[in-house]
Amino acid sequence: MHRLLQFTLDLFERDRAPATPVPAPPQGARPRRSTGPRPPRRAATPSMPAAPEDDLFAAPTPDLGAGAATSRPPSPPRAPVATSPAVPLAEAVAPVAFQHPQANRTLRLQDSTVAYLFKRAQRRSIGFVVGPDGLVVSAPRWVTLVEVDAALQSKSAWILRKLGESRERLQRQAAAQVRWADGAELPYLGEPLRLTLSPGQSPGGQLQTLTPTEALAVGVSRRLLLGLPPQAAESQVRDAVQAWLMREAKALFTQRLDHFAPQLGVQWKKLALSNAGTRWGSARIDGSIRLNWRLIHFSLPVIDYVVVHELAHLRVMDHSPRFWDTVASVVPDHAQRRQQLRQVGLPEW
Ligand SMILES: [Zn+2]
Repeated sequence: MHRLLQFTLDLFERDRAPATPVPAPPQGARPRRSTGPRPPRRAATPSMPAAPEDDLFAAPTPDLGAGAATSRPPSPPRAPVATSPAVPLAEAVAPVAFQHPQANRTLRLQDSTVAYLFKRAQRRSIGFVVGPDGLVVSAPRWVTLVEVDAALQSKSAWILRKLGESRERLQRQAAAQVRWADGAELPYLGEPLRLTLSPGQSPGGQLQTLTPTEALAVGVSRRLLLGLPPQAAESQVRDAVQAWLMREAKALFTQRLDHFAPQLGVQWKKLALSNAGTRWGSARIDGSIRLNWRLIHFSLPVIDYVVVHELAHLRVMDHSPRFWDTVASVVPDHAQRRQQLRQVGLPEW
């Protein structure tokens, strides 16, 4: 029996939504030159035991059997432009167009027009991926376009929700652009940190925690003093901040790994900071962990969730229920923490 629909949650999440049947390939519909049906490519299962890579905005794993599209009530499509709050909801929910830049097919899903990139692929299931560019659908050669459309319709709630979330995320990111200069603010451990250029300070940066009275007067409770002249170039400021944040990240992540590894009964061997645009972390069975240094923008509970997530992969190398049970044994509220990963606007680097 062929595997059915396979979803990719968000950018690189390998979790699968429950299947929707597609017909088996008709006999003789396979490529003629082939030396027989090939085994499916197993991109999600690398030969070296490595855990699935965890994307920057990982979506909650659907409950097995419950259905990704039904695990939450479908959110209505959102208007692309902010609408006056006085407009009744029914009117505010205007048809929305989602357009992939390389779209080659268009479909009406509920009230929205979705232009998506359609690809034929050597695979045994219809795959949906919602990324920053929009929806990408890939299907084996033997599945007809009518069947593809039917599969899209059957998962329309999931697809529209993901497209809406992806759009909101891009909007948040655009809003989070930092002007790298004296007085700029960026999130650090979940709270605003103000940059202060102060030539007398060490070039490496010095964190200053203000007293409550000072904090009231200044508007933030923490400042980063950078030993740079007030007229320093933006790139200079940004590089100095990044270097400081990466040092902080390395020290903090090491401490958190040491803290949680015994609780999970695992040993980690090596920590590398990553800078991937789309992944929070990854783990390999040999005990090496990669964590995105930009996690340092988030509050400690969120960082701890990602640390525990990667350590849990040293025990379970997939996102199966057993994996989530392992995570929950240390972080019972992992779903809420995970949600925050997508709700905070990160500075652009
Ligand atoms: Zn994972």
